[in-house]
Amino acid sequence: MSLAMDACEPVTAPAIVWEETPCLLCGVSEPLPILEADDAYASRMRFLLVRCRTCGLCFTNPRPDPASIRAFYPADYRCHQKKNERGATWQTELVLAALPTPRQGRLLDFGCGSGGFVRRMRTLGWDAIGLDAVENAATSTFDVPVFVGTLPHPNWTSPCFDVITMWQSLEHVHQPLEVLRAARQVLVPGGKLIVTVPNFDSLASGWFGPNWYGLDVPRHLTHFTPATLERMLVATGFSSVRVDQRQHNSWIRHCAARAGGGWLETRWGSRLMGWWGRLTGRAESLLAVARALPVS
Ligand SMILES: [Zn+2]
Repeated sequence: MSLAMDACEPVTAPAIVWEETPCLLCGVSEPLPILEADDAYASRMRFLLVRCRTCGLCFTNPRPDPASIRAFYPADYRCHQKKNERGATWQTELVLAALPTPRQGRLLDFGCGSGGFVRRMRTLGWDAIGLDAVENAATSTFDVPVFVGTLPHPNWTSPCFDVITMWQSLEHVHQPLEVLRAARQVLVPGGKLIVTVPNFDSLASGWFGPNWYGLDVPRHLTHFTPATLERMLVATGFSSVRVDQRQHNSWIRHCAARAGGGWLETRWGSRLMGWWGRLTGRAESLLAVARALPVS
């Protein structure tokens, strides 16, 4: 397929290198095309989403290769902004509840952006470290330890973390199985992995289609549902996987504005859809908490 390549001119020099990938979960080729969506940022290119005929995983395909994808992250990408503290109370409480006894542990925030969440956990006494693939994001001005790269990472090769968090970052990686396996290897046995990703099976995703905020192509490479997220965590050595949902009314308002406005752009409209999505188990975001099995 060459949909993305044919859509318009390349974003920037050097040229983008495109790749087609078999299923990122089960490895089967020839997935089913399901949706076309435009890059909402500068490139305006159109991308294809596909669904694996075997396991049901949805992913962007073809896609820019790991080196080329950086051209699609604008300098003002929302997750890399310094002002984005990413340390909501519910996130902190989840982490604090992850350890069996109340104590400060060691935490890695994968895809830490500007490092706001790392700073928050450090102020609570945690030994928290950030990791981000994008250099301009990882050069944090929060004065916290943030490294450039992905997992596996040469800095950490044996179990040393009590908790790893992935706040809306797993959907960005080219090889999610590899990242999750590496996360399992550097978590102490019984350590917790906490993941949030957009829910491709959400009510809002079905309603807005190509204008769904959670698509964010081509930066989002995997489009998870509750079933495929759980399957991927189990396949990479995690147990006690619990997948919950989180409501994001602002995402609904953003989608409505992009789709041309209407009643869902209002506060009460977005609240109504958000509430209905959560009530029916189809909220905008997935939250998974999983326990690392010992490395065999
Ligand atoms: Zn598959």
